[in-house]
Amino acid sequence: MKKLIVPIIILMTLIACGTSEEEAQAIVDKAVEERVVEDQSDVNDDYQVHYIYFLASDTPDNRLDVNGWIEKLALKANADLLYWSALSPNSKGVGQQFKLDYRLDSKLDITFLRATVPEKTINSVQVPASYIFNYIRKAGFDNSRKVYAILVGFNTYEGNVKGGEAGTALMTVFIPAANSYSQDEREVLILHELIHSQGVGFTCGKRDIGQSGHIQGNDIMGENRNGMSRIIDEFNDTYYRHNIQECPDMSKSVYLTPTAEDSWDPYEVFCRRNTGGFTFNPEKFYGCKDSPAIK
Ligand SMILES: [Zn+2]
Repeated sequence: MKKLIVPIIILMTLIACGTSEEEAQAIVDKAVEERVVEDQSDVNDDYQVHYIYFLASDTPDNRLDVNGWIEKLALKANADLLYWSALSPNSKGVGQQFKLDYRLDSKLDITFLRATVPEKTINSVQVPASYIFNYIRKAGFDNSRKVYAILVGFNTYEGNVKGGEAGTALMTVFIPAANSYSQDEREVLILHELIHSQGVGFTCGKRDIGQSGHIQGNDIMGENRNGMSRIIDEFNDTYYRHNIQECPDMSKSVYLTPTAEDSWDPYEVFCRRNTGGFTFNPEKFYGCKDSPAIK
């Protein structure tokens, strides 16, 4: 208790004379004390993207879940999607966003999760993201109506080369790698991985190049992204508002809002193989949240 009294007095003084670093620090300290390690009550039971700040047992805690860093990045990336998707020709100026998991107090719900194993153990498999996917599922994060967006506090053994990795209904971004990019590029990286989490690329899309999940041409999902493109399916022929019969369209995913009347669930289609009216091979080499491909 003794420790608490000083910051509270400082805080009260600082509120009277405006914000300061100390005040911000006190707020973060308090938030760390109140951290929750489980998914909190949801505002609704709609499909949504849930953010997790994930550390290994030996990763320094930079408090990115409570100091606003993750929240700001997640919200800005989502605002970018609204803007960039509106520019896709068939959008006719109407953009979409991901539905995010918010707390009852309207803040983004971000779970803090520290593994019991060190970074070395997680990096001992060929696809460390798969290890993390399995880990969070065993920790109880396996809601079939959520995409898990996991911001990892350390890099894979590949260093800054590997910014992120995704499967259907989940994705990872490795924070030190992301921090070696510019702010704009970080936002692109988050969106790139979130778009993968929707099952993109779709093999029935015209410019899809198969197993890698990427597409031909200048695109946020492009195989050769020169300077990280923000273009979202500029010809509407591959994954977004494409009008290809019996082929999934990301704009109609249940995770996007405004939500299409004939929406579909990437988890059902790619993980449970309930492909409904789609006639394509839902095989994914990079796995689903309940069957990550550990190599
Ligand atoms: Zn990719």
